[in-house]
Amino acid sequence: MPSFGTVVWFLCGVLLFRYIWKIGLSMLRSMATAPPPPPPTGEMRRINVRYRCSVCGTELRMVMAPDEDPPPPRHCMEDMEFMTPRFE
Ligand SMILES: [Zn+2]
Repeated sequence: MPSFGTVVWFLCGVLLFRYIWKIGLSMLRSMATAPPPPPPTGEMRRINVRYRCSVCGTELRMVMAPDEDPPPPRHCMEDMEFMTPRFE
């Protein structure tokens, strides 16, 4: 026979779990609806541009984009710097 204190703690745990579960679900739902649907692959353009993170120095190359002048990706919470395309 569990004591009264144990039952109270158990109920508190169940309520807390349900609360966190609901927050998690709503966060998942907002993340799932945030990005726009990707365009069909036939409308993607082959590009070759480089971006550099001005904060940590990470460089990346973008090879596919919905248009030829895509907005720069973000890294370290900042827009990455556009670098001149280099064709190798
Ligand atoms: Zn960075």
